[in-house]
Amino acid sequence: MDCKNRATEVLKEYFGYDAFRSRQEEVISAALEGRDVLALMPTGGGKSICFQVPALMSEGIALVVTPLISLMKDQVRNLEAKGIKALAIHMGMTRREVDLELNHAAYGGYKFLYLSPERLNTELFRSYLDILDISYIVVDEAHCISQWGYDFRPDYLNIGMLRERVDAPVIALTATATPEVAEDIMDRLSAPGTKGRENFVLVRTSFKRDNLSYVVRHCEDKLGKMLEICRQVRGTGIVYVRSRKRCEDLSVFLNSQGISASFYHAGLSASLREQRQEEWIRDEVRVMVCTNAFGMGIDKPDVRFVVHFDIPDGPEAYFQEAGRGGRDGKPSYAAVLWNSRDIQRLHQIRKTSFPELSYVEKVYHAVLSSYGVPYDSGMGRELRFDLDEFCRKYRQNRSEVFHALKYIEREGHWTMAEKVDLPTRVQFAVSRQELYDVPLQSALMREVLEILMRRYTGIFSYPVPIEEDYVAESVGTNVKELRCVLYQLSLNHVIRYIPAAVSDIIHLNYNHLHPRNVCLSPQRHAMLLGSFERRSDTMIQYVTEEDTCRSAFLLRYFGENDAEDCGRCDICLSR
Ligand code: ADP
Ligand code: MG
Repeated sequence: MDCKNRATEVLKEYFGYDAFRSRQEEVISAALEGRDVLALMPTGGGKSICFQVPALMSEGIALVVTPLISLMKDQVRNLEAKGIKALAIHMGMTRREVDLELNHAAYGGYKFLYLSPERLNTELFRSYLDILDISYIVVDEAHCISQWGYDFRPDYLNIGMLRERVDAPVIALTATATPEVAEDIMDRLSAPGTKGRENFVLVRTSFKRDNLSYVVRHCEDKLGKMLEICRQVRGTGIVYVRSRKRCEDLSVFLNSQGISASFYHAGLSASLREQRQEEWIRDEVRVMVCTNAFGMGIDKPDVRFVVHFDIPDGPEAYFQEAGRGGRDGKPSYAAVLWNSRDIQRLHQIRKTSFPELSYVEKVYHAVLSSYGVPYDSGMGRELRFDLDEFCRKYRQNRSEVFHALKYIEREGHWTMAEKVDLPTRVQFAVSRQELYDVPLQSALMREVLEILMRRYTGIFSYPVPIEEDYVAESVGTNVKELRCVLYQLSLNHVIRYIPAAVSDIIHLNYNHLHPRNVCLSPQRHAMLLGSFERRSDTMIQYVTEEDTCRSAFLLRYFGENDAEDCGRCDICLSR
């Protein structure tokens, strides 16, 4: 009881909420009792609170494993805004920066350390394990640990190693797990020893969405149908399509029909994506046409319709994307448009998504050779990878290469991250004494150097990431001007200047293997392809279904066997 009151106080104090949502309390009390817990809750269901509250009530630092760098940064920012000390270690940081952060985590009174999973396997991280006072091992997006899941990440298997070395309970969270995947998650996250698996508590909230009407339309003229939906349903909407090109085409088409639309995919620059997302959130644009790159971490409550212009890969992705509709509880629609050509295309996609192993291996060596990574070396390196440039150079098809890269990632050889923000880094190229004798062209230069020196200890010894906004403001200028100054200083050999960049990154988990040792197994290939096929078959079943309530169909897939008919999908309504 006491614990419950304290938990509610913490919720109020830090998050400003009066009461827990259904099942949050269960997760929290299980965690406080030292049980391992797996929470299955839909996106937006409030999973973060489930680990943040117990961590705040406990001594030590919670380790939060999550694969999404941008969401990680958001969470750290949100916690810091509440006065809670949190930090993050992710791709795009140098070894020294990671070391520094781990040092803070160990001695700085921090409550949360966010970590991308490929770090678990590094010497550096392991060397800190005995020093860190870990309160909880939090596993966000826990389905990534299961190869039956739709987003298997072998890095997650390293959490097993953590469990052997760290005596702290696990709080695992996910919004997409079939019963099979949920079991697999608990098996893999169990503490070593016989009691391990029994210590796990499963807390599941229903994924039922009372205000969402699922609709499937079989139609030759999908364009016309989409337009009809945009006209008939008022308010904001999302249209998901597979290809980047089609995003643009459909958005142009909608605008030509007098419907305000914009498009979004991973090929656009970071600033353009942010701008478009903002415009859509502020209702300056009504319909967002996008690939599945859009929507993660966006919490817009009043989305009235989500149209899938192409059949999605599987129910997990579909449920997440459709679920972005109607978060405010008001009536909303989730529609899939399809025709017989789409089914053929889906079969084609299976082939491209799982390229032949000989091709995969060729891409593996080509990528590593193009960076001059010799055999038996490279572990821990991060390559700034440009897919388009690579494809031009080797005259390869973009999507084939992409899927080969993904396959190699699924095999654990490397980990990829898209569009990582790499901050500006500066290191002084002269000593503190020499600095005073360096002739400088302007007073501004002197001021910049002073600020850098005062703010960033260590800047004399290694490249330090700097906050350009802060430095610019401190010397009364703007970022653009500051960059010119830094550039000038680097020309004068006073500093080493590594300008900010946004880049895709490949993190090498192992050394470059010799051709005979890459060992891509045909059985695994068949297994992964098989599970991909089962998911897309389920989607084909979903769209061709004529009797079963759409909502019940989806809920049963996720293990809610007693799901009732919703009374509002196209099938229920046609009865
Ligand atoms: P998830 O990780 O499950 O997708 P989040 O943890 O990001 O969801 O939470 C979604 C939203 O719900 C956040 O804005 C969060 O602050 C809010 N929320 C969570 N728990 C509560 C609560 N008990 N009362 C009110 N709002 C809550
Ligand atoms: Mg979350």
